[in-house]
Amino acid sequence: MQYADFIDINTVKPDFAMPFNMRVVDDAIMIANDFGDFAFLTPSEFQSFVAGDIAPGDELYERLKAKSFIASEADDNELVSRYFQRKSFLHAGPTLHAFVLTERCNHGCQYCHSSIVGMSRMDTDMTVEVARRAVDFAFQTTSPWMTIEFQGGEPTANWETLQFVVEYAQEKNKIAKKELSFALVTNFSLMTDERLEFLIANRVQLCTSLDGPADLHNKTRIFHDGNSHEITLEWIHKVNARYIELGLDPILYRVEALPTITRHSLPRYREIIDHYVDQGCRAVFLRVLDPFGFAASTRRTLGYTIDEFLEFYRNSVDYIIELNKQGVEVMERLAAIMLNKMIAHNDPNYLDLRSPGGAVIGQMGYHPDGSIYSSDEGRMVAAMGDDIFRLGDTENQNYGDIIGGDVARSLILASTNDGHPRCASCVYKVYCGQQPEYNYKTQGSLFGRMVDSTWCRKHMGIFDYLSHRLKNATKEEMEIFERWTINRRQDHFVQDTE
Ligand code: SF4
Repeated sequence: MQYADFIDINTVKPDFAMPFNMRVVDDAIMIANDFGDFAFLTPSEFQSFVAGDIAPGDELYERLKAKSFIASEADDNELVSRYFQRKSFLHAGPTLHAFVLTERCNHGCQYCHSSIVGMSRMDTDMTVEVARRAVDFAFQTTSPWMTIEFQGGEPTANWETLQFVVEYAQEKNKIAKKELSFALVTNFSLMTDERLEFLIANRVQLCTSLDGPADLHNKTRIFHDGNSHEITLEWIHKVNARYIELGLDPILYRVEALPTITRHSLPRYREIIDHYVDQGCRAVFLRVLDPFGFAASTRRTLGYTIDEFLEFYRNSVDYIIELNKQGVEVMERLAAIMLNKMIAHNDPNYLDLRSPGGAVIGQMGYHPDGSIYSSDEGRMVAAMGDDIFRLGDTENQNYGDIIGGDVARSLILASTNDGHPRCASCVYKVYCGQQPEYNYKTQGSLFGRMVDSTWCRKHMGIFDYLSHRLKNATKEEMEIFERWTINRRQDHFVQDTE
């Protein structure tokens, strides 16, 4: 269907409608405004709408009025407050502080997006002195919320610094009184009961990688000192059992596991999802391969086209919806984030999908040598030999220099959808976002060219799929989608300030 088929341009009444973008979805025209409302119109309804050929009392007029599409009916105060709410992340500052505690790792995952080195390279560990400066720097954020996330390499390989950061940040927070939390991304291979007790006692949230059944997981997550899949499952169950012993709600508190999707995963979507359900997981985040680091060089064996990924994604979410209908409560995480934006009028502040993007003003990455990057992805670009996303270092820069500096300003401009020609007129603009590091890595420009960007193709494909599902959803399916948008706070992971 072409727009020219259903719009008579001579009849358009420009001041009747609030500004909107549009896209053909199935046999309908989807329209969306900057406040997050959307509607599906038949071609004749759309023609009546743009011609202003509807009046109060008409079903269509009342439907569009309720969704803020009729200019003369707009309640400015209400719209301003909704816009403010949607962009509330702009009133904080960087919330996510990714500490790369070491570049050492004992796994050799084929798709690894980090710059890993062998376990003997202790010189790549973050020292306690650098960690202290990094914590001091991170605490200058103007955000009242703050997560310190431990990454690597395998961050538990530098256990001494991890412990130091937790204890030092807790101490500082007695004065700063921020809503502070910690997260550890680990492959569990260096976990011990003693370490786990420290993490549990200090309320450190645990995240891991689980690529699916044993053969799929072990095929790409190469580990020569044991069975990576067995170790991962053993610790997932152990941690979840400890949460139950502590009286925490098992629906809310469990290890967050994520699969990375390779070519081997594509035909096995049911097995992957079943495997997650079997481990008691309530969410699966189907992650596409990164263009960063080693993944670029192994793309030929593990890679796929975005269209192949989208087919996998649609099959997976269709299957997840079917499981929900059978009473199994599991969700796909990216779909849940997007649905939050579309039907719950929330912005969950997912840093990879917001406008302006999360680089610098939402997150910062701290390298073991004290360098500060726009994000963990910015740090990965540096590991590939290009320091463009380096903001400075913990020794010589202050927070104000970095947050107001040229790199930050450039990244904010480059990650604002309204500044991208294709995004500015895209129906998904209000729900979508940019990652300049991805644009730079894949297209050589911070801005990227959305018309042939795999970033855009992936997100537009998923939004198209969700729009199609929303347009045709039964009452039962809408209830499932609404359930996915319920966000319960994990207060247990918030540190005490006394
Ligand atoms: S990146 Fe693509 S899908 Fe997202 S807003 Fe821009 S044009 Fe639309």
